[in-house]
Amino acid sequence: MTHYEPINIPDDAPYINALFYQTMQGIEEVLGSNGLKAVLQSSGLERYVNNPPPNDLASGIAAREFAQLNAAIEVFTGRAGKGMLQRIGRAAFRWGIKEQSSAMGLAGLALKALPQRLRMRAVLLGIRKGLMDTVPYGLIDVRDEDGTFVFTDYACVICHMRHDDKPLCHMYIGTLSEAMAYATGKDFRQFEVIETHCRGKGDGYCRFEIREKG
Ligand SMILES: [Zn+2]
Repeated sequence: MTHYEPINIPDDAPYINALFYQTMQGIEEVLGSNGLKAVLQSSGLERYVNNPPPNDLASGIAAREFAQLNAAIEVFTGRAGKGMLQRIGRAAFRWGIKEQSSAMGLAGLALKALPQRLRMRAVLLGIRKGLMDTVPYGLIDVRDEDGTFVFTDYACVICHMRHDDKPLCHMYIGTLSEAMAYATGKDFRQFEVIETHCRGKGDGYCRFEIREKG
């Protein structure tokens, strides 16, 4: 059970500069500056080569273009694609925490005093708030279902206008894994994050299950 009904996101929906900027930082950390250049060029985003967007909440990129960038990284990295996209998601999250914690909904979260489970929940709710405050069509549901956190994004941009028979949002898995590491102080490998539904394969939302490995 989820809170919301699937929503219709316009084909030309915009995406936010700051979030794209964060992703570019993650790509550069993992693939190097030549790798970043290559995937920008092959996804039709050559206007950003050596010319990053402003780190602000305006929009210079379409959600569809952001999704194409994800597809280009998968092609560029071949068989390693899934793992690379996860690494990029983790690197982007770490960079965002340092440089953009307010846009990410994580500024001023007093985690230390909370038990681990509530810290995990607070960070997931922070990400939800950050995305829903900055992305105009953002719609995210977070809940705790019998010990598994379920994070459902009804407006995922990673797979916008893409189609596959498998879930596509590996970068999101990286982001959520790193978020759990941030929340708990543990290694990201301690957490299992699975994408059970994906808009890219025709589901009404991208749904992730998050649990600590026992
Ligand atoms: Zn998705």
